[in-house]
Amino acid sequence: MIVLSVNAGSSSLKFQAYDMPEENVLISGVFERIGMKESFYTIKINGEKIKKEVELKNHESALEILMEELIDNQIVESLDEIKAIGHRIAQGGPYFDKTEEMTEENIKKVRELSALAPLHNPAAIKGIKAAKAVVPNALQAGAFDTAFHQTIEEENYLYPVPYEWCEKYNVRKYGFHGTSHKYVAYRMNEILGRYNTKLITCHIGNGASISAIKEGICINTSMGLTPNSGLMMGSRCGDMDPTVVTYMTKQLECTAEEMDEILNKQSGLLGISGISSDSRDIEDGMKIGNPRCNLAQKMFTNRIIDYIAKYYVELGGCDAIVFTAGIGENSIHTRREVIDGLAALGVKIDEEANECRGVERLITTEDSAIPCYIIPTNEELMIARDTYMLYQEKEKEKELIENEII
Ligand code: AMP
Repeated sequence: MIVLSVNAGSSSLKFQAYDMPEENVLISGVFERIGMKESFYTIKINGEKIKKEVELKNHESALEILMEELIDNQIVESLDEIKAIGHRIAQGGPYFDKTEEMTEENIKKVRELSALAPLHNPAAIKGIKAAKAVVPNALQAGAFDTAFHQTIEEENYLYPVPYEWCEKYNVRKYGFHGTSHKYVAYRMNEILGRYNTKLITCHIGNGASISAIKEGICINTSMGLTPNSGLMMGSRCGDMDPTVVTYMTKQLECTAEEMDEILNKQSGLLGISGISSDSRDIEDGMKIGNPRCNLAQKMFTNRIIDYIAKYYVELGGCDAIVFTAGIGENSIHTRREVIDGLAALGVKIDEEANECRGVERLITTEDSAIPCYIIPTNEELMIARDTYMLYQEKEKEKELIENEII
């Protein structure tokens, strides 16, 4: 059965088609510059990458072209073979703790939450609406970045601000990257061969977050109301004294929106190094002795170490630490600095094993008190799995109704 995994941005749409339950990727790609001049798309099929320039008026035209590609490449004979489409949605607020069908009522909730994710939720809605128009018979599912973190207890998700802020304005920690944390935690448990585990999963990419996971359930995570909290990131500041915001808004005589832009796009590695938000550029800067790159990297890794130590205590120990996402999977240097920073917990790096990028591997020594693993993340696959499961549940429900059992 074919399941599509879709990640719609405001002017882009990434996709992957899976044959489920085998989990084979049939085709993948991305549409870019949707609604703009010089729009194009790239597809990857049978190991070959093809780029085509076409006019992409909107998300619907992108999906129409995708359907043509699926038929032309004989992935499907008819669109009815696409049984379900899973859409990545950033903010599910308090409403969604798992992947759900995107009914009109649920789309309304996603729209309502746009105030908390102004760039992401409206884009996801565009993708869902386009998919409904182009493949009306498929189940449309929403997979939320926040859903996996809905198990966090009130004492960990509330901020110490007036209690009504949460009740009236939904101000609380939601967490993000949930699909990635869930995927790597599941895989880590498979490797360990048991599920009664205490894990610390580090999704360290341009955006970065760390989660504490007990027996597959998330008990805490570093991102909050928005993806700009917790760790220092590529261009986001993460945790700091909130008074910096009010003080600097006055000093710079800027608006709240301008301040938000600075804290999201001009801070983090970029803000401190003054060079780049990309960790590869920071590493290059360090090689030529740039002191601001050294400082940025030190601040970056210190915060990762702080969160791991905090979650180690919260979990009451830890069976494994997982590194994933762009930096976690690829930066030998960052992993080494983080693991060296955990020496007090008895964690010991295996230098030779750590000399790798993008592969699943144990990177600590046999006598390390906690094993550390690299597990490449696969959010698209996780979305496809959840969507496939939801489809099966819905089919079972239909069958029971048809047989008048419920
Ligand atoms: P992501 O947001 O998960 O796509 O991760 C993007 C981040 O991964 C960027 O900061 C990249 O610099 C970083 N990254 C990718 N490849 C490497 C590499 N070989 N070494 C260090 N950082 C890398």
